[in-house]
Amino acid sequence: MKLIEFQGKEIYEKNDIPTTVHVFLKPKMEEKEVEKAIEGIPGEEIVLKIQILSGKRGKRGGVKIVPKNKVFQAYQKLMELDLGEVVFGVLAEEKLVIAKEYYLSLTFDRSAQQVRVIFSQEGGVEIENVEHDKIHSKLYKDVNRSFYGDCAEADELEVLVNKLFEVAKKMDAQLIEINPLVVTEDGRLIAADSKVVLDDNAVYLHSEFVNYEKQTGQSQAEKLAEKYSIAYVELDGEVGVVGNGAGLTMATLDFVELVVGSKPANFLDIGGGANAEKVLHSLEVVKARKPKMMWLNIFGGITSCKQVALGVIEFQKKYPDCQIPIVVRVMGTDEKEAKRLLEEKGLVCFTTMEKSANYIKKEIKEK
Ligand code: GDP
Ligand code: MN
Repeated sequence: MKLIEFQGKEIYEKNDIPTTVHVFLKPKMEEKEVEKAIEGIPGEEIVLKIQILSGKRGKRGGVKIVPKNKVFQAYQKLMELDLGEVVFGVLAEEKLVIAKEYYLSLTFDRSAQQVRVIFSQEGGVEIENVEHDKIHSKLYKDVNRSFYGDCAEADELEVLVNKLFEVAKKMDAQLIEINPLVVTEDGRLIAADSKVVLDDNAVYLHSEFVNYEKQTGQSQAEKLAEKYSIAYVELDGEVGVVGNGAGLTMATLDFVELVVGSKPANFLDIGGGANAEKVLHSLEVVKARKPKMMWLNIFGGITSCKQVALGVIEFQKKYPDCQIPIVVRVMGTDEKEAKRLLEEKGLVCFTTMEKSANYIKKEIKEK
């Protein structure tokens, strides 16, 4: 289970790992509440960070530095920011005066059955983009002072890594990543960001974190559906279903059970006259449940199949790494144009429900 940044930082605070002075701003706070909440944060300016489950927020407009009296407006804007993900809230924190940014992580190395430490003086950017010879990686048991090379903060790093190792053990963490690990102008090491992944098999031992989703009583997909004002139903199967019209959507669910021989993971009805954006949002909602496959079943009447195709293509563009196959069935208005567009992008589409269902049946067996 991946923790949200503010949950990771809570663990740091409890375990004496230096992190930023921060407060978590939950959704739907009033201006007065926000003002009060941030009173204790030092400095004229505040760093606001959107709380979502994925990273690269800096690049995507999810990190803002604003004067203290502009925090509420910026908080509201971040809560509205559409990164195709559930926004759990906003973290407000002190602005650090950054001298250097390092990268530090502890991961569980499966092949060695040991904790591995990865360190680089080139932090703040994606570790994938750092040159190999600037990344140091060793099993924890083999790490000593020389591991940090000529780094001026080697002593402090040694202490920090030892503490993190204890935390990883205690929390059954598979990953603790601090990027950036900031060196301030006055030479202190501070965890400015946090990515913590707990072992799913041990999550029950850490009930305080048992899914934030559960604390709020809504799943990610349900929250996203609410945000987009889409009526959505969650089930427990494998196939995510998007249909248009109640009748067709229900028929699709029956097909999943009777023809595919599987069960729907969830479903939603995009209604009549949906545009490309609505189709994109619908797929985002269905995807959030992580089904094995997604079936978009559209009969074009008022709805233009071309708009549907454009929505699917948008989705493909926004989530190039999405591993969940989409099967599109389009029939009716603008059907030919839709098929042409989809096939051009290598997407799977059919005219009949039977063909779609049989294709899904075949694919799902192999997954
Ligand atoms: P991520 O993009 O999701 O990994 O979010 P981060 O928390 O790592 O923030 C992205 C970037 O924002 C960092 O690499 C910093 O350059 C910048 N940043 C974050 N906090 C501060 C801060 O307190 N002061 C300054 N000057 N920059 C910050
Ligand atoms: Mn980061």
